[in-house]
Amino acid sequence: SEEFFRKADKLNVVGQLAAGLAHEIRNPLTSLKGFLQLMKESDKRRVEHCEIMLSEVDRMNSIINELLIFSKPQPKVLKRNDIGTLLYSVINLLEAQATMNGVQVYIEIHGDLPPICCSEVDIKQVFVNVLKNAIEATPNGGKIQIVAFEQLNELMIRIKDEGVGIPTDSLHRLGEPFYTTKEQGTGLGLMMCYKIIHDHKGNLSIRSALNQGTTVDIELPVTD
Ligand code: ADP
Ligand code: MG
Repeated sequence: SEEFFRKADKLNVVGQLAAGLAHEIRNPLTSLKGFLQLMKESDKRRVEHCEIMLSEVDRMNSIINELLIFSKPQPKVLKRNDIGTLLYSVINLLEAQATMNGVQVYIEIHGDLPPICCSEVDIKQVFVNVLKNAIEATPNGGKIQIVAFEQLNELMIRIKDEGVGIPTDSLHRLGEPFYTTKEQGTGLGLMMCYKIIHDHKGNLSIRSALNQGTTVDIELPVTD
C-alpha cells in the first residue's frame, strides 16, 4: 500500500547536521591522509591514488557547497513569479539528464496559475532537487509527470515518478541531513527543499510505494 509522509517539524537539525558533517568530512580526510603518507614514502600506484584523492576532495567540496547555500542567509528577493515559467525552465535545465537516463518528463498546468510571491532562485532549487531525485529513481523508459493547479488558496505542484519508490520504514528519514541511498548522493537535497518550502509558509509531503513510485506534493500559499 502507499505510505504517506508529512514532515511536521524536522527542521531543528543543527546538532544532527554538525555530527553528520563531521562524519562526512572525516572519512575522506582519513583516506586522503593515508594516501599522502603512502606517497611520502614512494608510491608505485601514484596516478591511481591521486585519482581517488581528487574524487574525495570533490566530494567534500560538493558537501560544503550545498551546506553553504543552506547556511548562508542569502538576501532573499521575494517577488511575484509565474510557477509555470519556473517549472519549464527547470525541466529545460534537467532535460539532458533525463534524456541520458531514458526518462520522459511531462508537464500539465491546469487553468491559469496565480502568481506566487517567492524567491525564484530558492523555488527553482526545490524543483531541481525533487526532479533530479525523480529522474535518478526512474528506470530507463520510465516517465515523470508534473502537474500544477490551484486549490483552496494554495498552489499545488505535484511531481510523480514511477521509479523504485521508498521503503515504508525509510520514509521518516527523508530530509534528514546526509541520509542518502546513493553512492554519489549527499543526502542534503530534500533537507534544503523542506527548509525552503517551510520558509515560504508552504508544505512539502511525500508518499511512496516500493517499486511503484513516489509522489512529491509541494503546496505554496497564494497571496494577493
Ligand atoms: P540524495 O539525492 O543526495 O541522496 P536527497 O535528500 O535528495 O539526497 O534524497 C535522500 C534519499 O531519499 C535518496 O538517497 C533516496 O533514497 C530517497 N529519495 C528521494 N527522492 C526519491 C524518489 N523520487 N524516489 C525514490 N527515492 C527517493
Ligand atoms: Mg537528491
